[in-house]
Amino acid sequence: MAAYQVINDDITKLKVDAIVNAANNSLLGGGGVDGAIHRAAGKELLEACLLLDGCQTGDAKVTPGFLIPAKYIVHTVGPVWSGGQRNEEILLADCYRRSLEIACALKCNSIAFPNISTGVYGFPKFKAARVALDAVNLYFKKSKNYTIQEVYFVCFDDINFQIYKDMLSKI
Ligand code: ADP
Repeated sequence: MAAYQVINDDITKLKVDAIVNAANNSLLGGGGVDGAIHRAAGKELLEACLLLDGCQTGDAKVTPGFLIPAKYIVHTVGPVWSGGQRNEEILLADCYRRSLEIACALKCNSIAFPNISTGVYGFPKFKAARVALDAVNLYFKKSKNYTIQEVYFVCFDDINFQIYKDMLSKI
């Protein structure tokens, strides 16, 4: 089982093997954490993303980190919350699982997740944290040869930070 840590930080600054971007289907940049990552990684990131041909919701694709300290950026597309009847929880869990699969295929030791879908995409924060933790736990339970030993849950806003601290103190 990997070690989990909750931190209140800017994900673009972290020296980990892979950071995860909460991107949109075009993978061509946006606001929030996506905008911050594109600004920090530089214009080569956009050039690399242009070659990826977008990404389905719940799936993930990878690029190098370019100007940020992380080696890789795993771009995943979370669901837009629309009341909970459109597979939002399954799709959000898929984002975490696919990101871990990709990071392990690249032999990453550490990965940092933002709170996917809880910004502009409106996913309720408590529910999203529960889905995230369950999906990551399930991945480590089911996967036989994972390389990830450290998972950082990067909480940029105080509400998410508190939710994750509470949840992780109970496991
Ligand atoms: P989404 O469209 O998936 O909701 P957002 O970027 O709007 O994505 O928000 C996802 C989460 O990322 C939010 O909790 C937001 O506070 C957080 N966030 C924004 N900027 C950063 C950053 N630089 N580092 C880490 N998390 C960030």
